[in-house]
Amino acid sequence: MKVRVTEYLRVDLSTERWECDRCDESLGSARDNYKHFLLIHARNPREVHQPLLDPNKYEFCFSPDPKVCSIYEFYCPGCGVMMDVEYTIPGHMPLHDMQIDLDSLREKWSGSAIVVEQ
Ligand SMILES: [Zn+2]
Repeated sequence: MKVRVTEYLRVDLSTERWECDRCDESLGSARDNYKHFLLIHARNPREVHQPLLDPNKYEFCFSPDPKVCSIYEFYCPGCGVMMDVEYTIPGHMPLHDMQIDLDSLREKWSGSAIVVEQ
């Protein structure tokens, strides 16, 4: 039984593995942080949110300061679809923001019409 968790992420409850819902890539154990199995691109926030004022003249330029903000983009290693974006502190590990109780989910979704496939 496979259950979609986000737009491009699903969990296979029979194998307890994260999978890409776009290319079927098996990512890793669903008991671990799925982000550890994805490709990570650490972006400079000044590239993503370009300053509206000259950062050489003004301390606050309406753009995140790269000394205090990093942007991590997470991509599927199979098809390259972007799965998540995280704003964090430079050097910080990816947040473990999704921990699923697999046994409860299996019980809850058994027989449900929202299941992706069985
Ligand atoms: Zn994929």
